[in-house]
Amino acid sequence: MRLVLVGPPGAGKGTQAQFIASNLSIPKISTGDIFRANVSGGTELGKLAKEYMDRGDLVPDEVTIAMVRDRLSENDAQDGFLLDGFPRNVPQAEILKKMLEEFGAGLDIVLELVVDDEEVVRRLAGRRTCSQCGRIWHVDFDDKKDDICDACGGRLYQRDDDQEETIRHRLEVYQEQTAPLVSFYAHEGILVGVDATGPVEEVTQRAMESLSPFAD
Ligand code: ADP
Ligand code: ADP
Repeated sequence: MRLVLVGPPGAGKGTQAQFIASNLSIPKISTGDIFRANVSGGTELGKLAKEYMDRGDLVPDEVTIAMVRDRLSENDAQDGFLLDGFPRNVPQAEILKKMLEEFGAGLDIVLELVVDDEEVVRRLAGRRTCSQCGRIWHVDFDDKKDDICDACGGRLYQRDDDQEETIRHRLEVYQEQTAPLVSFYAHEGILVGVDATGPVEEVTQRAMESLSPFAD
């Protein structure tokens, strides 16, 4: 299955991507994770991306698209994938469509995680990420009293871009640049909205139900 998750920052894309990709045995490709790995590895790509990420702006399309093209060319992505955080504007969506046509494939479904702004801000303000395995936690919802990952024992950190002012800017960027993807994919006839409120497992269950008609 070739699947994209869209939704505002904090909607739960990364969290759901972990479970959905594992349930479907497809690779999870998260552009934010790839950029962050490059930032911490000190690569040229990371140095370039960091200034945009710190401001909460999108990294330029040519850089992002080249990175995704490389990743989608890898062996494990040939029979399916879950994209989390890409595409993030209409030009990226158009290029993705062309890229998949070159590979003789197309997207099966785009899941939109629907959640209101107030909840998004609460989720982002308490987000913690494991520096070792990348698993995503929340200080309140997961009742995290320490900064240790329950999955692997790694240390949790708060992302630099999860500060109040940057969060507000990222939400504006979402409204201006990413939200138009909803009508883009509705027009393509592959958009399915999922209520992303409530416990994580319930959201996963709703997402899996929406995907079941497309499962092999
Ligand atoms: P969130 O979890 O808040 O949705 P991500 O981890 O997906 O955020 O992305 C973090 C940052 O990485 C973005 O604010 C942006 O700077 C950059 N980024 C990620 N994906 C893309 C993309 N497809 N195009 C441009 N920039 C991106
Ligand atoms: P995104 O990738 O869309 O930016 P994340 O998956 O990183 O979002 O989730 C943002 C924060 O919200 C994380 O701290 C995560 O633990 C928390 N979260 C995700 N889904 C839920 C949920 N259904 N209920 C409560 N908190 C959630």
